[in-house]
Formats: sequence, C-alpha cells, structure tokens
Amino acid sequence: MMVNILRITPLSSFNVTKPISSIRSNPTFLFNSLPTISIRQPKRGFRGGIVAMSAAPTPGSVQKSEEEWQAILSPEQFRILRQKGTEYPGTGEYDKFFGEGVYSCAGCGTPLYKSTTKFNSGCGWPAFYEGVPGAINRHADPDGMRIEITCAACGGHLGHVFKGEGFPTPTNERHCVNSISLKFAPANS
Ligand SMILES: [Zn+2]
Repeated sequence: MMVNILRITPLSSFNVTKPISSIRSNPTFLFNSLPTISIRQPKRGFRGGIVAMSAAPTPGSVQKSEEEWQAILSPEQFRILRQKGTEYPGTGEYDKFFGEGVYSCAGCGTPLYKSTTKFNSGCGWPAFYEGVPGAINRHADPDGMRIEITCAACGGHLGHVFKGEGFPTPTNERHCVNSISLKFAPANS
C-alpha cells in the first residue's frame, strides 16, 4: 500500500530572508511584506474631531522674565497666568462657549485643549476632561487640597484639575481653566 508522506515545506523555501525573530522585532519589515491597504481615515474620531496640531510642546521651552511677561500680557492675564490668580466665576469669555477648534495658552500659544474635550460643568469656568498630551503640568497646590495645572511650555497658571466628581466624561476629571489663560482658534481658521 502506498503511503503518501506529507511533505513539509522547509522554512527556507518561503521567500523570507530574515529569521522570524527579526521579523518580530522589526515591524517595518512585517509592514513592508503586507499588501498595501488603503484605509480611509475617518474625519472624526471617538472624541469628535481630529484637529491639526503643531509639533508637540516642549516642556519649559518658553522662558521669559516676569518683566517680559508683564510687557506682553494684559494686567489681568499677568495676574492670572503669572501670579496664579483666578477670574471671577461665570465671567470668562469661554465659560459658556462651545465653538469647534483649539484652545491655546494665552501666554505662549501652545495648544492645550481641543474643543471636543470641553464640557459644561456649570461651575463658572471652562471645563475640559483632558488636555493635549504633554501640554499640561500638574503641581500640588500650596493649599494642600487642590492640584494646580500649568502650561508645560511657559509655566503659565491655567487653573486646577479635580478628579472623581462624577461628571459623565471619559476621564472623570475636570480641568477647571480660567478663560483668560486660553486663546481659542476655530477649527476652520
Ligand atoms: Zn504657555
């Protein structure tokens, strides 16, 4: 009786010039070996919008003396951004504003928040559930209770971040930001 011997194709007969281990550690190789698939990127992601951003902010990249800040900021911007003041609740330009675009630092222009992360907290200041990655630093407030948030690039005071308040947002955080610390630019500008 004839027995067919299953012939196992040796690995070397595949058109693979690199050992498997190097494929694993070299995603580019794997990618190149795959057929090109054209993926249509959705214009809108889960959080409602993909907004073109400039390069990632570099922490501490904007260094000015307080005298220089005083010269380029309005007295109220200086009081809040550089002296960690707080605008009166319910008075800020962006408290009840929900245009589509990007909020940048009023001091140095670094993009800080996308409008898609803004929500109406009803607390009297603009509220965001998350910032642009790497754009915002957190510091324990001298009051021992709150966490201060600042622009990572210039150190400008933005406000405070609160956790676990139960707002129906993806992060359960509220970045409570002074309007005057921000400068909004519409998405289509
Ligand atoms: Zn800044």
